[in-house]
Amino acid sequence: MTKLFLPPQVPQDLHIHTVFSTGDSSVLPEQNLKLIADLGHARIIGIADHLNYISGNLFKSYEKQVRSFGFKAGVEVNGSEWIKAALEIRPDYYIYHCRDSEEDYEGVGQLIRTGKPLIIAHPLYLGTRLDRIPAECFVEINNRYIWRSDWKTRLERYVKKFRFIISSDAHQPHWLNQNYARFVADQLGVEETILF
Ligand SMILES: [Zn+2]
Ligand SMILES: [Zn+2]
Repeated sequence: MTKLFLPPQVPQDLHIHTVFSTGDSSVLPEQNLKLIADLGHARIIGIADHLNYISGNLFKSYEKQVRSFGFKAGVEVNGSEWIKAALEIRPDYYIYHCRDSEEDYEGVGQLIRTGKPLIIAHPLYLGTRLDRIPAECFVEINNRYIWRSDWKTRLERYVKKFRFIISSDAHQPHWLNQNYARFVADQLGVEETILF
């Protein structure tokens, strides 16, 4: 009998969605914390559901359940409209949608001042101008989006400026991998930063 091949664990995955992101139609009901723990595709796992669905009092219960699996509790913040709600909670880190607008760039500064790690989400997809992002931010190489953009010409010049986080942005169980993002990081000569 042939022994099954199991893929090696990746070091870290901090951008994973679960059924807490109830209003996101691409999240499947099977995408729950237990399945992610059982699969164990990454050594360090962080859940970063959309703040839209876990703001205010809901955050406490989210955080508690996420931590009960030994995961880090992050959130994904959808632009400046959600900064106020983001400042009211204490996640382990923020993932931030920064579109090319003054308000969104201001939001970057506000989140930096919390002292929590700030990851700029899929910047090429959102049109974030990385020359306007301070070097203390982490820049994401996101498996869901990176292959859709001209990453070589658009990211190459920032390789020395930023520290990079490689992530899946998984909304479904079969997205729990980072294969294309890791290919891109390798091609660019990026060394990933392990946050925790
Ligand atoms: Zn996103
Ligand atoms: Zn996401």
